[in-house]
Amino acid sequence: MELPFWNREIERLPKKNLKNLQLERLKNTLERIYEKVPVYRKKFQELGITPSHLKSLEDIIKFPFTTKEDLFIDYPYGLLAVPLEEVVRVHTSSGTTGKPKAIFFSKKDLETSAELIARCLVMTGATKEDILQNSMTYGLFTGALVMHYGAEKVGILVIPAGPGNTERQIELMKTFGTTLLHMTPSYALYVASVILEKGLIPQKDLKLKTAYLGAEPYSEQTRRKIEEMLDIQVYNCYGLSEMNGPGVGFECPYKEGLHLWEDNFLVEIVHPETGEPVKEGEIGELVLTTLNREAMPLIRYRTRDLTRIISEPCACGRTHIRISRILGRSDDMFIVRGVNIFPQQIEEVLMGIKGVAQNYQIVLENYDEMIVKVEIDREFFDGRIERLLYLKNEITEKLRQTILVRPKVELVEPGTLPISEGKAKRVIDKRTL
Ligand code: ADP
Ligand code: ZN
Repeated sequence: MELPFWNREIERLPKKNLKNLQLERLKNTLERIYEKVPVYRKKFQELGITPSHLKSLEDIIKFPFTTKEDLFIDYPYGLLAVPLEEVVRVHTSSGTTGKPKAIFFSKKDLETSAELIARCLVMTGATKEDILQNSMTYGLFTGALVMHYGAEKVGILVIPAGPGNTERQIELMKTFGTTLLHMTPSYALYVASVILEKGLIPQKDLKLKTAYLGAEPYSEQTRRKIEEMLDIQVYNCYGLSEMNGPGVGFECPYKEGLHLWEDNFLVEIVHPETGEPVKEGEIGELVLTTLNREAMPLIRYRTRDLTRIISEPCACGRTHIRISRILGRSDDMFIVRGVNIFPQQIEEVLMGIKGVAQNYQIVLENYDEMIVKVEIDREFFDGRIERLLYLKNEITEKLRQTILVRPKVELVEPGTLPISEGKAKRVIDKRTL
């Protein structure tokens, strides 16, 4: 069966043509920022470099990085490459880590971001017959609005639900016959658990087919858990405000990595400390250059997100590069007893254990101990202490095998840990408070 495409020609553009297009757009981007953005001109001059030093795509490494801190130089308008009157929208990052970064869109940028989302949605089989419940936060955060316009472009009916009020979310699903969901994975786990607790049978009582989950890292185990709970397909959706928001990386039906639209982004993976390119296929920090952005082009942007490139061609026929799911942000990593740990490693173990419910929390009180609070399915609280003890041991052992540190596991009843409607805060680090 021929899989659907939104823009067949560009999505299957032969690699060579794609590279040529990238080079042409990269040249253009470098020339524009050199001419129009004093912040960049200064950076180029400091390195003694001009756009003419770019002869091939590989030459990108001669150019300066843009860091999160750079976005605050001449804040908020310092990185604009067009006059302010050409700008039609501002978004800010959700501010998970510090002061919000301001990102500006021209009319053309809004069209492009919608086009990229349209490619993503159609890639996963969405059509104009679908109904999307968009449960990301509307407003300054890119998550909801960028998805919203992209879905409308496909002709999808969009329910601008926003996050939270889970009862209402479920009512909306029932009333309008929602087929597609867009939310964070942590919230999806919660919503799924409420749907099941209410005794609803997803296949019968709801029309859900697909969920686009992103805005925070999650593991393959979590994906499977949600797919099973709701009997749907879950696709990983990666993005960051600095690069338009959602739809920067998106899974195709093969779910073996996220495609990145290379006609719009140039992808590099560098060592998070040295900034040097890593060997092909190695894990490192994702660095992105916008190739088709008008209002606020960014070059070599250090995302701090860790991933690796999957270079084999994808069975779906798209020629655009794939990255693995995001393993975490370099700033998410924490250290206990000298061991580097990412919250996602813990999530992966927990979500694969039968009896573990949807919520958990990691508490760090000192440098030697990690407390993992885990919500357990209600049926375990039936008075049989040995079942609880057995489960607690299983969790402790499996975590120890993966992260090499023996955690202190506390089992709690479902509904006792804070619920997240947007990005979950999994780690409470009291050491730095
Ligand atoms: P903030 O940095 O304030 O959270 P954004 O709201 O723009 O800003 O969020 C972008 C970040 O969210 C990404 O850099 C990444 O760390 C995380 N993220 C987004 N989507 C995913 C995903 N599918 N998997 C893992 N992490 C994600
Ligand atoms: Zn594919």
